[in-house]
Amino acid sequence: MKLLVVEDENKTADYIRQGLIEAGFVVDLARNGLDGHHMAMTENYDLVVLDVMLPGIDGWKIVQSIRAVGNQVPVLFLTARSSVDDRVQGLELGADDYLVKPFAFSELLARVRTLLRRGGPPVNHERIQVANLELDLVRRRAVRSGQRINLTSKEFALLELLARRQGEVLPRSLIASQVWDMNFDSDTNVIDVAIRRLRAKIDDNFEPKLIQTVRGMGYTLDLPDD
Ligand code: CA
Repeated sequence: MKLLVVEDENKTADYIRQGLIEAGFVVDLARNGLDGHHMAMTENYDLVVLDVMLPGIDGWKIVQSIRAVGNQVPVLFLTARSSVDDRVQGLELGADDYLVKPFAFSELLARVRTLLRRGGPPVNHERIQVANLELDLVRRRAVRSGQRINLTSKEFALLELLARRQGEVLPRSLIASQVWDMNFDSDTNVIDVAIRRLRAKIDDNFEPKLIQTVRGMGYTLDLPDD
């Protein structure tokens, strides 16, 4: 899941970015409105965390502009103001939710996850099941054959990506950009190592084996063909 954070206060921006990365997201950061606007218009994000008061172009104008071209990316506004009028204006312009500063990071994370579920896969917003593997997307937990598997946040993000797109062969470049924010040119060995670790946890002691290597193409999570 790739998020854009637009925030001009460096301390707040770094704090949000770091927290979201630790929670397993890929995060792009824009420190002013113009960069934020440009990135929101040109890149594909799963969600935008958008400060309202920004130099250059404010958060309201950014959300208006991206909605005007039909971009429905969920937007969480951050605002230091708390008057009712501002709230109403933000929501009318197309923000999906907002948070009044100062806020606890846990609150931001909870709102982000709620918004992502709202725009998530239509089949099931909170759980993904593949054979006897279950992912609880709310608690970020994986269970295989009734046994809880301990995963790091990156491992869970990798597994979630594979499970959301069950049966689809995902090239290393796509996995790299979605889970690690790396380019295709980067060392894709990172992906192979991560897959190996994930397999050791979710496949080695269980049947059927779910993570499949498709030679020359990438990886897929699916039931093996018999
Ligand atoms: Ca600001």
